[in-house]
Amino acid sequence: MQVIQVAIAVPMPQLFDYKIDVLHTNSLVGCRVLVPFGPRKCVGIVLRTHVESQYDDAKLKSVLEVLDSDPVCSEQMLILGRWMSEYYHHPIGEVLHTLLPAVLRKLQSGKSKVAVSTHTYLQLTSQNAAHEDAAELLTRSVKQFDLYRLLEKGKQPLATVKQTFTAAIIKGLTDKSLLEKTEVVETPSDWRTQLSVGEKPIPNVEQAIAISTINLATNFSTTLIEGVTGSGKTEVYLQIIEPLLKIGKQVLILVPEIGLTPQTVGRFEKRFGIRVGTLHSNLNNSERLQVWQQARDGSLGIIIGTRSSIFTEMKNPGMIIVDEEHDESFKQQDNLRYHARDIAVYRARQLNIPLVLGSATPSLESLHNALEKKYKHISLPNRAGSSAMPVQRLMNIKGQFMQFGIAQGMLDKMREQLDAGNQVMVFVNRRGYAPALLCHQCGHVENCQRCDNPMTVHKSLNNLQCHRCADTRQLPKNCAQCGHHELDTFGVGTEQLQQGLETIFPNFSTVRVDSDTVRGKGKLNKLLQDINQKKFQILVGTQILSKGHHFPDVTLVLILNVDSALFSADFRAPEKLAQLITQLSGRAGRSDKLGEMWLQTHCPEHPLLQDLINNGFSDFARYALLERKHAMLPPHEHQICIRSESHHKHLSVNFLQVCAQLFTQFKHAKVLGPFPAFIEKKQGRYRNLLIIQCASRKYLQQATQQANDALLEMALSKQVRWSIDVSPIDFS
Ligand code: ADP
Ligand code: ZN
Repeated sequence: MQVIQVAIAVPMPQLFDYKIDVLHTNSLVGCRVLVPFGPRKCVGIVLRTHVESQYDDAKLKSVLEVLDSDPVCSEQMLILGRWMSEYYHHPIGEVLHTLLPAVLRKLQSGKSKVAVSTHTYLQLTSQNAAHEDAAELLTRSVKQFDLYRLLEKGKQPLATVKQTFTAAIIKGLTDKSLLEKTEVVETPSDWRTQLSVGEKPIPNVEQAIAISTINLATNFSTTLIEGVTGSGKTEVYLQIIEPLLKIGKQVLILVPEIGLTPQTVGRFEKRFGIRVGTLHSNLNNSERLQVWQQARDGSLGIIIGTRSSIFTEMKNPGMIIVDEEHDESFKQQDNLRYHARDIAVYRARQLNIPLVLGSATPSLESLHNALEKKYKHISLPNRAGSSAMPVQRLMNIKGQFMQFGIAQGMLDKMREQLDAGNQVMVFVNRRGYAPALLCHQCGHVENCQRCDNPMTVHKSLNNLQCHRCADTRQLPKNCAQCGHHELDTFGVGTEQLQQGLETIFPNFSTVRVDSDTVRGKGKLNKLLQDINQKKFQILVGTQILSKGHHFPDVTLVLILNVDSALFSADFRAPEKLAQLITQLSGRAGRSDKLGEMWLQTHCPEHPLLQDLINNGFSDFARYALLERKHAMLPPHEHQICIRSESHHKHLSVNFLQVCAQLFTQFKHAKVLGPFPAFIEKKQGRYRNLLIIQCASRKYLQQATQQANDALLEMALSKQVRWSIDVSPIDFS
């Protein structure tokens, strides 16, 4: 019998001792065990064996079952987990569970092995009577017919098909005996023999420099590629990984949103003729596990995924790439608040491989590191191929007549482009019909009681929605305060804008792209395809439209309603706004037609806008970094944020006052707050923040560690919900 120490996913920092009486020839470290924990059974990960327990033998409980024959957490993952636990001040058990695919965290044994590496393909059944009538059989379902046409070109991987078509559509064709599934067994080394490099453009001078610089590095180094939109960054990625794939090395590529994945994946598959493993939120647990397994056993050459795929292990790691490295989705905003870019740096160093960060609008953090020469720095200042950078302009709307939030001058510009057969994109940062419902008689605004925040009007759904807590309520006919029926909406959201543009431009079709219209499997991908096939001429949407999409026929991008960001209390607001404007503008003129971006504003003389429009993002960013330096803000200094939430305002504030007190002993740490979060109340809870700032990250880290230990001991800390956010990027 021996004692082992196990990490369990509970919000407690310690490890737990258990007895185990089975003799194990292999080391158990990194394996999962099933253990009793209070009244429950939990999956834990073994961190130490042969432990001298401080507890009495009789008091220790026994392990119920050993779930793995080989460790699911490698030595390196355990080291990463320990580092994350210290760096983010988060319990080790929860950290280690975050590193594993979801299925492995559950109470199932023997699941860490995928039986055989098979891949499911869909293909048309061999010709039968049904096929002759296919066109007729499918007249009632356009989507089934689309899938049928796709399969006529040959068999397709199920995973790829699922990105565009729902299970119901696949079932529809299966039920009509038109489609069948086949399993193809792939041997682990397959991709290396399949690898064939497709047609590729000759890199331009800047790309060539980027490629040769990066390919010189075989050990750990971090390179920031600062390349304007459409400068050919993806082409650089394709060419730098080519020599690595040729010697059998694997590459992990992080992308921000699932919406980006299908286009990117297609490009990599086409170039190298191999299947690319993808990891994103639209996969089910077993699909995720399979990709995780195959990356681990070396049977995938390229893995493309969103934030959490940074925890994928590779048998022969060659490189990590973080595309659109500035994107906020790389930071997890709840629970374990890690930043995938920071983890990427740690992992690349640990694996001793190159890391490449790419963006048209790099984060000030990365730019700072590049300018300080901690990262190599490569610029791609021009667009690749024949397209030119879009022209950027400000439209002064002071005192102007507006229709649906758009000035007459802008409508004229839109008409010009539409008449010329081009597409126009209109950005507004609010989804729904209008951000508030207001009584014309008494001025009463319909608020969400749990969040003290105006509810958004969704006319198409005939309801009011709280965009903080997702609460919904039927659209009232009368004012809740005075009973009057004259209710007005206030402000313009995507839904109203789309309707408005449909009446102004009845001869052109309009599409709305926001989180309401892209909800559901494959929806965004389908919309993007329809846009590229020019089924729509006017694209109305939110942030989603800014994310790296390639729309060759968009020649005009119009940005509405961003002035409030110019007056935000968030010191990152200018950076975020400049990134948004630049990324949106980058959707224009991506082929040989010249593109234009117009920004409607009441503040055309604002220095941020002037600098950005006249000198571009890279100039803006360098100036913004200087400003941060003078203001002693990140990235020049480091921050942690302690958040607290409670149904009682005073508890939430008291807790942070106690925290602030704890930090006063650390002379080099500045304490700011407590103050209310930007979202002061959500779901009935009052939210407050405390910021601790310091020039030395190490000092801040140690101070936080000590304060955290003290906080965990305090009774008050059990009365509020609280968390520590290291290098916070969002104060909502
Ligand atoms: P980014 O990732 O920076 O947005 P892409 O790699 O997608 O840029 O390139 C933008 C467009 O330019 C794509 O259509 C791509 O095929 C094309 N392109 C990239 N590099 C070259 C090149 N060297 N010559 C010609 N076309 C190129
Ligand atoms: Zn609410």
